Amino acid sequence: NDAGVPGRVRVAVRLRPQNTEESAADADFADCVELQPELKRLKLRRNNWDSDTYEFDEVLTEFASQKRVYEVVAKPVVESVLDGYNGTLMAYGQTGTGKTYTLGRLGEEDMAARGIMVRAMEDIWAEISLETDSVSVSYLQFFIHTIRVLHHHVQLYMETIQDLLDPTNDSISIMEDPKTGDISLPGATVVEIRDQQSFLELLQLGEAHRFAANTKLNTESSRSHAILMVHVKKSVKGRDSGLSGENGSTAHMTRTSKPPMIRKGKLVVVDLAGSERINKSGSEGHTLEEAKSINLSLSALGKCINALAENSTHVPVRDSKLTRLLKDSFGGENFTGTARTSLVITIGPSPRHRGETASTIMFGQRAM
Ligand code: ADP
Ligand code: MG
Repeated sequence: NDAGVPGRVRVAVRLRPQNTEESAADADFADCVELQPELKRLKLRRNNWDSDTYEFDEVLTEFASQKRVYEVVAKPVVESVLDGYNGTLMAYGQTGTGKTYTLGRLGEEDMAARGIMVRAMEDIWAEISLETDSVSVSYLQFFIHTIRVLHHHVQLYMETIQDLLDPTNDSISIMEDPKTGDISLPGATVVEIRDQQSFLELLQLGEAHRFAANTKLNTESSRSHAILMVHVKKSVKGRDSGLSGENGSTAHMTRTSKPPMIRKGKLVVVDLAGSERINKSGSEGHTLEEAKSINLSLSALGKCINALAENSTHVPVRDSKLTRLLKDSFGGENFTGTARTSLVITIGPSPRHRGETASTIMFGQRAM
C-alpha cells in the first residue's frame, strides 16, 4: 500500500453495474470494458477483435461493495488525516457513472450502501476523543456561470464558490497564508460537530441547497463540483506524538516536558462535475462557453495531478479556483510531502459511451 508515499496519486477505477435501460438497449452488445481485478487491469474494447489494456492501483468491478471501495480508496487517506496530514479524495467521470454514489451516499435506507464521506466520518469518530479533539465541516459548491454586460455584447465567465451550508453566500474567496501556505475560505460556514447524526444532517442540508441553487440558476448539479472539507484537530499526548501539527516533522517528547501536541489534518472530498464533453446530454442549462470553462477547471485539475504524478516541483495550481482551493491538499507548489491524494475514476459499461469512457480512463492513467 503506497498511499503513504508523498507525491503519488493513487488511482482506482470503478465500474458501475449495467442499469435497466442499458441492459434493455444493449442486450445485443458486449460491454465495452472487461475488468481483471486480480491483475489490476482493465481492457477497453477497440472493436470486436482488439482491446487496449490499462493498469490501475485498484480495479473495482460492478460487484465491489461500498465497504471495499472505502477500504481501498479512502481508508489510508483518512488515516493520514488523523496523523495530521491533508488528504484528498476525488471522483472523476461522466455523469451517471457513480461519482455521487461512491462518495456521497448516506445509506439511510440501506446501511451497506453508505458512501465514502459517511464511512470516513465513522472512522474519524472512532479515533478521536470528544473531550480533547474537534471536528468541523464546511460544504461548498463550485460552479461556472455567466454574466452578460453591455447589452449582451460581452459575457463574463465567473468561477463561483457557494456555501452549501448557507447558500445566500455565493461569493466565497480563497485565501492563502503567505507563511504556511495553508488555504482557507474566509466567510465559509464552518460547523463544529460532535456526532454522526449532525454530520448526516449537514450533508442532507448541503445536498438540498445544491439542488435548489441549480434549479434556480437553471444549471445542472452534474456541472458543478461539490466539495466537503473536514478539519480534524487531535491532541496527542506522551511519547508517541508522531507528527507535529501540519508540517509533518517527527518530534519526540517526554510525558512531562511539554503540553499535549495538536495534530491538524484536513480531509477534502471532491465530487467533480461530470467530465463529459458538452455536446452530450446533461449540459442543457449551460451555454457552450460555460461548459467549456467547466472542462477548463477539470483540465487544470488534470495538469496538477499530472505534475504530482511526475513528482514535479511545480504544480500549476493558479489556473483555476478549483486547483487553488486544493493547493494545500496537493502539497503546494513546492511539494512538502504532507498531503495524500486518492482518485477514483468511475465508468459505465455501455459501448454507447465508449468515447467518454476512454477519455476518463486516460485521465486516470495520466494521474499515475
Ligand atoms: P454521477 O454522480 O457520476 O452522476 P450517480 O452516483 O448519481 O452518478 O449514479 C448514477 C446512477 O447509478 C444512480 O442511480 C446510482 O444509484 C447508480 N449507481 C452508480 N454506481 C452504482 C453502483 N456501484 N451500484 C449500484 N448502483 C450504482
Ligand atoms: Mg453526481
